[in-house]
Amino acid sequence: MSDTTLVLLAAGNSTRFSKPVKKQWLRIEEKPLWEHLADYITKYYSFHKVVIVANPQEVEVFRSVTNRKVIAGGNERQDSIINALKEVETEFVLISDVARACIPKDMLKRIIEKKEYYDCIVPYLKTPDTTVLNGEVLDRDNIKLIQTPQLSRTAFLKNALKNDLKSYTDESTLIQANGGRVSYVEGSLDAKKITYGEEIKELPCIKPPSPAQLNGYGFDVHRFEEGKTMWLCGLEIESSFGFKAHSDGDVALHALIDALLGACGLGDIGEWFPDTDDRYKDVDSKLLLNDTRDLVNRFGYDIVNCDIEIMAEAPKLKKYKTGMRKKVAEILKIRSERVNVKATTTEKLGFVGREEGVAVSAVATVKYFDWSKND
Ligand code: MG
Repeated sequence: MSDTTLVLLAAGNSTRFSKPVKKQWLRIEEKPLWEHLADYITKYYSFHKVVIVANPQEVEVFRSVTNRKVIAGGNERQDSIINALKEVETEFVLISDVARACIPKDMLKRIIEKKEYYDCIVPYLKTPDTTVLNGEVLDRDNIKLIQTPQLSRTAFLKNALKNDLKSYTDESTLIQANGGRVSYVEGSLDAKKITYGEEIKELPCIKPPSPAQLNGYGFDVHRFEEGKTMWLCGLEIESSFGFKAHSDGDVALHALIDALLGACGLGDIGEWFPDTDDRYKDVDSKLLLNDTRDLVNRFGYDIVNCDIEIMAEAPKLKKYKTGMRKKVAEILKIRSERVNVKATTTEKLGFVGREEGVAVSAVATVKYFDWSKND
């Protein structure tokens, strides 16, 4: 049985990453980067357990992808580690950022084989460049560019985190500051952190995203309510009644949101915008669609197209259809011919036929964001 637990930190917000997609959700074929790294590293080393630390809002999405242990991270890297260590019972813990996608086997071997003798083992790179501080050229041999993963003695790390409340950017500096024995081993350029979009292309262990296209379906119904403003596909519709709803009642955008979330495997509108939440009382559904587009992009997808079918006996919608396509396309940031809007009656049948309300179904298609293309 292995005496080491692997902790992968995937809760970051990619603030230095220049794309709308979060870097942990970049796809390597079908897999998000964090899953790719977990699979890659566990293929050549056997851990007691793998713990993945996710942004609290994304925990359920992570769990829908993996059977591994997923826990919620904290505000800072150090808070995430404190949360993760609650799940660690082994003598050693190996902690890595998921942005280091191709941690080489020989580098991990250099770290692991010294574990009996130190409290922390940390890989580093030498700088190949002349380095100047305040006008003075530094001795390059004394400069270490610190990498992850770092292997720590679990008990020492837990104690140091309990007793030292200062913020550290990695385990080795925390352990050193608390009197631990730290060993530096040679790192690797393949374990370089992906910070900007271009760098991922230079890594040896990854393949471009799958060209698969994914479909989603959405359906929604709202009842008419006298005296309210009617909104459909983001346009105000001339009518003496609108829709009974917690939000502005734009039943067409709600169906579209469900279709988009469905295509990305992101659940449904109620999970992201609960109608029990006062923030969404009378909310403009265009804002919800805008947030949904952000979610779709954040989790690594681009929107291909969508098709919306509005089932209504009243009011008549023909004159609005082109405007609706343009409004939706503007929010989704895609071309308007990739948004289709259809209106139909139900031949006087059912609640739609009795003019009690409107039903809308929608489909949407997405594909993985292709980081391998130049843009
Ligand atoms: Mg609704």
